[in-house]
Amino acid sequence: MASDDELIPVLSYARISSDTEKDEHGVEDQHKLNRSTAQRHGCKVVAEITDNDVSAAKADVTRDGFETMLRALRAGRLPDGQVVRGVVVVADDRLVRRAGDYERFVDALTYDDGRVYADAKGPKNLYSEDVEAMGLFGVVISKIEVRKIQRRLRDNHRSRAERGVPVGGTRPFGWNADKKTLNEAEAPYLRQAIRDFARGKSLTAICAEWRDAGVKTTLGNDWTLRSLKLTLWNPRSCGWRRYRGEILRDEEGNPIVGQWETVVSPGEWEAVDALFRARQGRAVGTGQEIGEVLPENFSQARHLLTGLLRCGRSHDGELCGTALRVSRHKDVKSHLYVCPSKAAGGCGGLGRRGDLVDEYVTEAVLAKLEERQARAASVEPWDGEDRIKRLIGKRSTLTDRWEEDEISDDVYFPRVKKIETQLKELRAEKARWEARAARAEATGGDVRERWSTMHLSQKRALLFEALHAVIVSPSGKGRKPFNPDLLKPVWKED
Ligand SMILES: [Zn+2]
Repeated sequence: MASDDELIPVLSYARISSDTEKDEHGVEDQHKLNRSTAQRHGCKVVAEITDNDVSAAKADVTRDGFETMLRALRAGRLPDGQVVRGVVVVADDRLVRRAGDYERFVDALTYDDGRVYADAKGPKNLYSEDVEAMGLFGVVISKIEVRKIQRRLRDNHRSRAERGVPVGGTRPFGWNADKKTLNEAEAPYLRQAIRDFARGKSLTAICAEWRDAGVKTTLGNDWTLRSLKLTLWNPRSCGWRRYRGEILRDEEGNPIVGQWETVVSPGEWEAVDALFRARQGRAVGTGQEIGEVLPENFSQARHLLTGLLRCGRSHDGELCGTALRVSRHKDVKSHLYVCPSKAAGGCGGLGRRGDLVDEYVTEAVLAKLEERQARAASVEPWDGEDRIKRLIGKRSTLTDRWEEDEISDDVYFPRVKKIETQLKELRAEKARWEARAARAEATGGDVRERWSTMHLSQKRALLFEALHAVIVSPSGKGRKPFNPDLLKPVWKED
């Protein structure tokens, strides 16, 4: 038995969920489980942190406990000076409420070396490259749970967000002091840089160009890689806003469009976003601050599909879903993608030859991108504009008649509500159509040709932009010939 001061001091985190149907675990239960898990793994709980989403849903969605935990992890100590070296969260579905949370948590935990994280399955190594995969999985989850998230957003930020009002701070590069109209001198630089970056130009090269051209930040400073990166990655360029790591969306899941002029289309900005995201995961792996290192150093993912492949084996009717890892076998020349062992959080029961999977998925994505381009080129412009105009006309006629007392409240309000619902749907349809067209455009016409000359990080950025995941189904016992039917791509919106 280890003496008390040999035990690693950790936090115990618990959350009361607002999903009452799921709340079979009380907070006390969660902390109790955390304490015993900590003990089993040579840790001791030095502080219990609890969040209550039930009340938070009404007043403020900030999870104070979660934020306190992140601060303590980054500092390595609690406000009272007590050292903290990790976290135990047995009910780990309580830890992450949305995609951004997971990344921030991993970021804070891995801020220093040798930190411990344990959930119901035991300790997990958050420094490993799998973190990237888990983080991305979080993004998939957030899409599935997008409605839930929106409900919370609505509670809190809706009015401000829906107005799309620019918020405080320094003047953003590319816009005038009103933060709405484009700055004619700066905006073209920003636009060109976003497009260049999406097509593979390095931050270093763009930064050098701007310096040579005498372009300064809005505070009059020279551009650095870090400031340039923050500027290119800011969704403001396409009219969107990020709040706590996520794009603000309305109830339909469409990004809320701000009241300022835009520099590029959403599709163009999303290409940049995908590229930064693909790099970001590796930055967590090495524990380095993103942006302080040349981007080239982030381009060293060793395998094409790390983070994209998911185990499709079922156990008791539940999909394993674990991110596959790269492994080797003495009898196989190629690398292998395998489900990690049970101890490492997977089922350990699935593996596939890497070269064949790489080739098949590449071909599938290239075909999909070409198909999208072809479709975008052949598709007529969106034809709903007339319907929108008609509905708006109808609404104003109704309003006129209502104001003239020709129709009663009982007639007017239900009808207007119906029209507004239709309008909302049409506008959402329009936004989807535009995003699709922009995406196809952003990919460029010769993607297959360029593929062979692309850097691995650029290929990965394209793959991650096209796919949520690829589910790899089991092929049965023993070694079988490669069967592409057992690979199921999960495409991001068609
Ligand atoms: Zn598995």
